[in-house]
Amino acid sequence: MSINRRDFLKKAGVITALGLGGAITLDAFEVLEPLKAADFTSPEDLTGKRWALVIDMSKLTQTDIDEVIASCHDLHNVPDMGNPKDEIKWIWTDTYEHVFPGIENHYLDETTEKMPFLTLCNHCDKPPCVRVCPTKATFRREDGVVGMDMHRCIGCRFCMAACPYGARSFNYWDPTPHIKEINPDYPRRSKGVVEKCNLCMDRIDQGLEPACVEKSKGAIVFGNLSDPDSAVRKLLSSNFSIRRKPELGTQPSVYYLIGGEERA
Ligand code: SF4
Ligand code: SF4
Repeated sequence: MSINRRDFLKKAGVITALGLGGAITLDAFEVLEPLKAADFTSPEDLTGKRWALVIDMSKLTQTDIDEVIASCHDLHNVPDMGNPKDEIKWIWTDTYEHVFPGIENHYLDETTEKMPFLTLCNHCDKPPCVRVCPTKATFRREDGVVGMDMHRCIGCRFCMAACPYGARSFNYWDPTPHIKEINPDYPRRSKGVVEKCNLCMDRIDQGLEPACVEKSKGAIVFGNLSDPDSAVRKLLSSNFSIRRKPELGTQPSVYYLIGGEERA
């Protein structure tokens, strides 16, 4: 049996999901046959891995950055809404001051101060977005990927309020007319749902690197933090790295190398 999204929302009583009444019944969600984390990969593939990205900003030119963003957004049918208010972003840039508030200082060199820093979901070890999602549309896999099941998203935007990194976007409008060239191999979202970077989990489950990593010419390195011989572990042990807003305890999986000298 299937019902459309509007009927479903009425039947499930979205208002109750907003904490104004009783609980949503799981039976109601089963009607939609939502995807589960296990649908994306087998449980044994997830154990023993802890995915992370290391971004060396000094290796990226503006052209590289544009290409990296385009590779992600083109692949995932991310629309260009044409104005910052409705912007949908999976990976984007911001200034050092905004990306690392509290770590800036008056004497920061001009290059770093003005550099556009690549920013994306941090796939936090302790993700507040997962904790607040009333329908489990946002989930964390054992390998550290924080993914989303769009079928389950009811658009309450609790996750957007909870994410301290602005890594989530809400579709106020139907995104389809704003997609430059639709990739038929990747699902599109509908009006009323939240979306964000999923660490290209469908690619990594096939043994491929995330698209941004592939496009970055070595500036973004992807790997397994649980493996002491992995490229990410080697980079982190031989360079000075920082993560966004460490004081919040979310434990981001995205590390930045900020022009640190490699130690011998
Ligand atoms: S960066 Fe935001 S959206 Fe991504 S896992 Fe952390 S809290 Fe969730
Ligand atoms: S990991 Fe994949 S989804 Fe995330 S920013 Fe990179 S290309 Fe986009």
